[in-house]
Amino acid sequence: MKNPSVFTEKAELRQALDQVRSAGGEVVVVPTMGALHEGHLQLVDAAKKAGDYVLVTVFVNPKQFGPGEDFDLYPRDLEGDRAKLAQRGVDGIFAPSVALMYPPEFRTTVAVSDLTAGMCGAHRPGHFDGVTTVVAKLFGLTSPCTAIFGRKDYQQLAVIRRMTEDLCLPVKIVGVPTVRGAGGLALSSRNAYLGKDERQRALSLSRGLRAAAAAFSRGERRAGALRGLVVEHVESAADRIDYITAADSSTLAPLSDEDVAADRLLIAIAAHIGKTRLIDNAVLGEDLLEETP
Ligand code: AMP
Repeated sequence: MKNPSVFTEKAELRQALDQVRSAGGEVVVVPTMGALHEGHLQLVDAAKKAGDYVLVTVFVNPKQFGPGEDFDLYPRDLEGDRAKLAQRGVDGIFAPSVALMYPPEFRTTVAVSDLTAGMCGAHRPGHFDGVTTVVAKLFGLTSPCTAIFGRKDYQQLAVIRRMTEDLCLPVKIVGVPTVRGAGGLALSSRNAYLGKDERQRALSLSRGLRAAAAAFSRGERRAGALRGLVVEHVESAADRIDYITAADSSTLAPLSDEDVAADRLLIAIAAHIGKTRLIDNAVLGEDLLEETP
C-alpha cells in the first residue's frame, strides 16, 4: 500500500506530473466525483495497466448539476476515498475546490452537439456541457496519455470520445464495463440514497436489461420487443421513468419500435426510485449481464 499524494493546487499538480513525464512516464487520469465504490476502483485497475502514474481526480462538479438536482446532497468523503485509493496503489489524487476550477472570471463552455440531444441530455439540460467543460479542463491541467471512464455512463463516454476527437486532444479514451453489485444493481455513489425497499425496486433496471439480453441471445432483434421487456420490469418498480431508449450503440441514434437491430443494440434507462435517479444500460450482443449473487 502506498500513500497517494493529494494535490489541491494547479502548480503543485503540474510540477509533479511534469516530473513523471520528464522521467519518461505516462500519466493516466481517472476523473470522478468521489464517494468511491468498486466501480471507480476498477477504473483505477484499468488505469494502472494503461500507464505509469495514475491520477484520480475527485471533484463534485457544480456545472453538471441542474437546479433542484442533488449537488448539495451528493456524498463527499475525501478521507475515505483516499484510503480506498491508497489500497489500490494510486499515485496521486487531485481534489480541487470549486473556486480553483471556476474562478469568478471563468467564461468557457465546451459543448458537444447531437450526441447530447437525447437520453440524459434531454432530461438534464446543460448536464453534458458541464461534463465536457470539466473534462476538457482536467485534460488541460493534467495532459494525460490516457483517461479512463465507465460504460455505466454510456452516453457520457460517447460524448467525451467525440469531444476528444473533435478537439484533437492527444488523449486515449478507455471505457470500462459496468461493475454491478448484489442482484445486478449497477454500482453508483447515488445508491447510498436508497432505502431497503428502494434498493429492491432498483434491481428492476438490471433485471429488465438481463431479460432483453436473454431475448437478444435467443435471436430477438425487434427493437420494440426488446425495449418492451425492459419497460415491463422497470415500469412496475420505478416511481418515474425519464427514458428507456433503444439506440445505435455507436451513434446513439434512437431506434423506433418498428426497427430491427443488427448485431448490437444499446438499451439505456434513467428512472427515479423514490428521490434517487438511477441510470443503467447494456449493449445487447456485447455486454455480459450475468446475475451477481
Ligand atoms: P462519477 O463519480 O459517478 O462521476 O463516476 C466517475 C467515473 O466512474 C465515470 O467514468 C463513471 O462512468 C464511472 N463509474 C461509475 N460507476 C461505475 C460502475 N458501476 N461501473 C463502472 N464504472 C463506473
